[in-house]
Amino acid sequence: SDKSRVTVVGSGNWGSVAAKLIASNTLKLNSFHDEVRMWVYEEILPTGEKLSEIINKTNENVKYLPGIKLGKNVVADPDLQNAVKNANMLVFVTPHQFMEGICKRLIGNIRNDAEAISLTKGMEVKREGPCMISSLISEQLGINCCVLMGANIANEIAMEKFSEATVGYRKDKDKETADKWVRLFNTSYFAVSAVQDVEGVELCGTLKNVVAIGAGFVDGLDMGNNTKAAIMRIGLREMKAFSKLLFPSVKDSTFFESCGVADLITTCLGGRNRKCAEAFARNGGKRSFDELEAEMLQGQKLQGVSTAKEVYEVLKHRGWLELFPLFSTVHEICIGRLPPAAIVQYSERTPKFS
Ligand code: NAD
Ligand code: 13P
Repeated sequence: SDKSRVTVVGSGNWGSVAAKLIASNTLKLNSFHDEVRMWVYEEILPTGEKLSEIINKTNENVKYLPGIKLGKNVVADPDLQNAVKNANMLVFVTPHQFMEGICKRLIGNIRNDAEAISLTKGMEVKREGPCMISSLISEQLGINCCVLMGANIANEIAMEKFSEATVGYRKDKDKETADKWVRLFNTSYFAVSAVQDVEGVELCGTLKNVVAIGAGFVDGLDMGNNTKAAIMRIGLREMKAFSKLLFPSVKDSTFFESCGVADLITTCLGGRNRKCAEAFARNGGKRSFDELEAEMLQGQKLQGVSTAKEVYEVLKHRGWLELFPLFSTVHEICIGRLPPAAIVQYSERTPKFS
């Protein structure tokens, strides 16, 4: 049949919720096969059981999304090649640091009519310059790749609380595909709309994680709401300036979509990056982010610390460090070169964008 088959590549906190959203729709919509495959990076739990087997037995991701039924049509599969082989719609949603290795393993193993969407927030920095995750997927696998980003704290969506999201697509001709992704994700409590600005949407999702680290420092220093709002405002300005320097086609209007200001706000209020950065500052920078991540997130991953480093490399290479005092200060605090309190002192330097 010509029904679409969906595979979700990734099964962390957000990956599991994405599978749940999609699975509720494939049951309702005739153009999709009911079954949703979900690739699980296999691990053995303290009970000795395999994560993929427990997911299939209980219909719950007991490690990354406990207490939430995914839908009986979600099938966990620990074999990456097997999980993708029949799918023409691939949803990528692993932490960004694993994506390049995963793409390499997929080369030659996917359908030639496959389409992709990335929910991953982050980027790779190569010698040639920065490479967004959607471009990595697109270039490695030779397929089109949209993105979906937004103010989407996974645990809230898992409980079916209302939120919005933004699909980004590249060219006019990709509009139809973007609409198909919107149909696959949109539910009564998850309102998705599409914009033609793939780089803008993906850079918003990626860069707000750096600002959220700064917001967490402010919380750890008990500086209050005005200070945090200032960090968010300056962060948003740097997000826009950085995005436009890298991709002049990025649209101002994208920053007013869910992927822009709304994701920035929710992540600075309730995200994991904020939470670990608060603990980092409370400990005066004496405990590393790796240690705090392992202890506080139990297997879930931070994206903001590595993204701050990746952004810093781009800024340094291009001679732009002075233009982005907030982004560069966040990285310098993360690596212990500056104390957490430097998050507000940076403003003594002169930001060049207004
Ligand atoms: P997560 O941080 O909850 O979980 C980490 C995942 O990485 C687990 O599935 C784990 O099995 C897997 N993993 C560990 N080692 C691995 C390896 N070597 N190779 C491959 N996989 C490995 O994951 P998440 O929350 O689903 O985040 C995925 C992406 O989605 C990130 O870019 C994140 O920024 C983004 N995102 C997350 C949320 C959220 O609220 N959790 C919301 C929106 C976007
Ligand atoms: P954290 O990774 O900081 O939890 O952010 C989640 C997110 O991206 C919400 O949209």
